[in-house]
Amino acid sequence: MKVVVDMNQCQDHGQCVFAAPDVFRFDDDGHLAYVPDPDESLREQVEEAADVCPLQAIRIEA
Ligand code: SF4
Repeated sequence: MKVVVDMNQCQDHGQCVFAAPDVFRFDDDGHLAYVPDPDESLREQVEEAADVCPLQAIRIEA
C-alpha cells in the first residue's frame, strides 16, 4: 500500500505514531518519519492512524 503524509499539515503531535507504530515514528529531530510503502498487513493500523490524525494529513493512495 502507499501512504502519503502532507508535511505542510502535520504538526508532529504523534497520534499516528501511537496508532501505527510500525509505520509512523519520530526521527531524532522530533519530526514525523514514516514508511511510504508499508506492507498490506498494516492497512488496518494505517487506516486507524489516518482516522485519528487531527489534521487529516494522512492519505492512503492505494
Ligand atoms: S497524527 Fe497527523 S498531525 Fe499528528 S504526527 Fe501524525 S500525521 Fe502529523
